[in-house]
Amino acid sequence: MTFLRLLFRNRLAGLGAVILGIIIILVTITPLLPLPDPNATATANRFLRPFSEGHLLGTDHLGRDILARLLYGTRISLAIGLVSAFFAALFGSAIGIIAGYFGGRIDNVIMRLIDMLMAFPYILLALAIVAALGPGLMNALIAVAAVNVPFFARNIRGITVSLAGREFIDAARLAGLGHTRIILSELLPNVLPVIVIGISTTVGWMILETAGLSFLGLGSQPPNADLGSMLGEARAALITAPHTSIIPGIMIFLIVMSINLLGDGVRDALDPRLKSGALTRPRATTRVDRKGPVPQADQKGLLNIQSLETQFHVGPRIYRAVNEVSLHVSAGECLGIIGESGSGKSVTALSVMGLVASPPGVITGGAVRYDGEDLLDASYERLRQKRGNNVAYIFQDPLATLHPLYKIGDQLVEAIQSHNNTSTKEARTKALELLKSVRIPNAPERLDNYPHEMSGGMRQRVGIAMALANDPEVIIADEPTTALDVTVQAQILTLLDDLRRERGLAIIFITHDFGVVAQLCDRVAVMYAGRIVEEGQTKAVLDAPAHPYTKRLIACVPELGGGRRELAAIPGLPPVVDRLPEGCAFAARCDKAQDACHRGYIPLNGHAPRAVRCLFPEEVV
Ligand code: ADP
Ligand code: MG
Repeated sequence: MTFLRLLFRNRLAGLGAVILGIIIILVTITPLLPLPDPNATATANRFLRPFSEGHLLGTDHLGRDILARLLYGTRISLAIGLVSAFFAALFGSAIGIIAGYFGGRIDNVIMRLIDMLMAFPYILLALAIVAALGPGLMNALIAVAAVNVPFFARNIRGITVSLAGREFIDAARLAGLGHTRIILSELLPNVLPVIVIGISTTVGWMILETAGLSFLGLGSQPPNADLGSMLGEARAALITAPHTSIIPGIMIFLIVMSINLLGDGVRDALDPRLKSGALTRPRATTRVDRKGPVPQADQKGLLNIQSLETQFHVGPRIYRAVNEVSLHVSAGECLGIIGESGSGKSVTALSVMGLVASPPGVITGGAVRYDGEDLLDASYERLRQKRGNNVAYIFQDPLATLHPLYKIGDQLVEAIQSHNNTSTKEARTKALELLKSVRIPNAPERLDNYPHEMSGGMRQRVGIAMALANDPEVIIADEPTTALDVTVQAQILTLLDDLRRERGLAIIFITHDFGVVAQLCDRVAVMYAGRIVEEGQTKAVLDAPAHPYTKRLIACVPELGGGRRELAAIPGLPPVVDRLPEGCAFAARCDKAQDACHRGYIPLNGHAPRAVRCLFPEEVV
């Protein structure tokens, strides 16, 4: 259903579908229509003009009814085109999958054979095949299918090669599946959309090729008509009776055009990446559509997030990922944001520099002030100047954010040169300094390493070095240690802490681990379902958590040598943000919840730095 909706959102594809639909309906009901016999000659009525009595589209050089021949001819042309496309796809894809899946010598032999086929001009090859098999529709079909096999084989092999090395194929092998099962149940579903796209974009082409062969007299044989042979026979009367060639010509044009338009639409609609973000391209910055008034500037911190509200608009649904979030950091300070997965931490962080994908993301309220300037108002150029230069990010998975094909040194140089006009030599010296400052051993050699040659901890250090490349004032670290083991995590945390002291960096540190917050952060904000539910100095929050949620989160952290304590898990799941309950979002999971917790709006009580959003807090703040 989504497929059809997406397909018809593309107007041209819709037009193609309508034209093709009409043609298909016409040729399907052709035998039922009151038409004269398409092959009945009547030399007395040669070359009648269109709209003549009894012959709507006139007659040809043998007095045969053109309308009847056109419809029967279209039937044949369409059928041959579709059938040859099907067989070309079937054999081509089978060859491609086998070559791509088995690889090695099999791949080599098959692909060189395919290359030999591709080296011939296709029409020459088709002619050679028909010459060998003899003229006739069936042989034209075989020829057209055969010359298109290499196209499918090449395409599908390329995709299969990249899929065959993926982990899910390895997993299937480990589970003991045989080659046939792996190919049919693991590979085929992944390449099928590509095959369908291949068919839809080549059918038109194949119809043209068949028409070409028939035009040369090698396809359909007289007296039977197909569009190509009609054109071929009309050639002699091109000047005297132009309608005999124009009519089949228009039909070929309509068919090929409608199939190609539809094919393009199918290709777009089948691409899963287009499903969520509709058919529009993501914008360079997040869309800002503030409903309420913009909050007044206040003098808090270097980076000051005021009542930020970020939503995702997906179809009729509105996901309120971030609500009324106010945070600020000053130079040399570290602010922790903590919360379960899905609580809106990353979206808050990405909103700061307009990095939330849009569509579907929209910032619907609040302000983000950097040194007093509202970034939500800023132009793309202005944001681009600030990205990396004033505010830099460190993400969770450095293997995903580093380019796999460039050396570490080159990537650092690129990051440095993106904001500064330094020479490559200077940039390289700076890159080396950066690697040293994040304590990478053998830094000079490491510059020439590729990301895959480094361990996870090393890569994260490179990620931090990248963030430091332009001496930013603020660093937003989004779960930078989640993928690392505890010893490396401790080193990275110490490193960030030192950098903060040495360079006076303001750090926003996002995590789901209170242990990490305790080690690094001066203040902490606890997020739940897109809202801040508690904030305060780290020590105050850890010593006396006021919100029941904070208390439960702290209880989840194991302590070494802390004696035998049962680790508490928080039962239930956070609410889905497109259907947030009234009142406190945590009420359903809270053992202290009362009726009042399920009603109305619950404000953040208290004054910075200590505040809590709870009607019955554990501690009075
Ligand atoms: P986390 O706190 O784990 O970093 P996120 O900030 O990534 O959480 O996500 C917050 C909420 O926003 C989640 O509930 C998620 O489902 C929703 N969300 C994130 N990206 C999208 C998107 N592209 N479309 C719809 N919802 C999204
Ligand atoms: Mg996240």
